[in-house]
Amino acid sequence: MVEIHRISGGNVNCYIVAHNGRAILIDTGRKQHREKILKMCKEHQVSLIVLTHGHMDHCQNAAYLKEALQIPIAISPKDMDLIPDNRIQPLFAKTFLGKVVRAISLSSFEKDSLAPFTPDIFLKEGDNLRAYGIDAKIIELPGHTNGSIGIKTGNNLFVGDALMNMFYPTTSMLYTNEKIMRQSAAQISRMGKLKIYFGHGKPFANRMWVKEEFKEIMGRTLHS
Ligand SMILES: [Zn+2]
Repeated sequence: MVEIHRISGGNVNCYIVAHNGRAILIDTGRKQHREKILKMCKEHQVSLIVLTHGHMDHCQNAAYLKEALQIPIAISPKDMDLIPDNRIQPLFAKTFLGKVVRAISLSSFEKDSLAPFTPDIFLKEGDNLRAYGIDAKIIELPGHTNGSIGIKTGNNLFVGDALMNMFYPTTSMLYTNEKIMRQSAAQISRMGKLKIYFGHGKPFANRMWVKEEFKEIMGRTLHS
């Protein structure tokens, strides 16, 4: 069984996933929090930084931690266009809260800086992190960004911003492609009983995230 530590990196979560004296860090938080995160990485002997996607709040300490710990960074190649300018992939929102979050995010992309970094590992569907001591599988969950990934270990799924729990647990309030984002959310639902670890907010049980998907499954049950 892995040990999971949720660390606040500002308005965003980072996670240390540890097992038998080895560990990985999932996302890196905001720069104001970097010393605390570095200290925890040292305590747990983190040997890999995994980025769920290229947004600033998740990647702002990637360059700093890589240098301080001398460890590799892993990310999907499909988000490399966001480093260092997060404005390259457009972001859309539909709901009122989504539009508020979008305005805050765009202002942060404008004002804050993202130190560029060179990843050492490009992740794709099905990759496993066991070389770094954690039996965890990469699942591509595009839509929030093109290169959004999830990390699954046992019954735990780290989703980055593919789902959100900022105000309440829901599909992503922001996305570069809504249709694909919803397909990824439906894919998570189909994975069954899991604990979901969000980039924003507290963990929550997996469930039906997309209404149409729920109707479809209910319909199938009724007609079978
Ligand atoms: Zn994001």
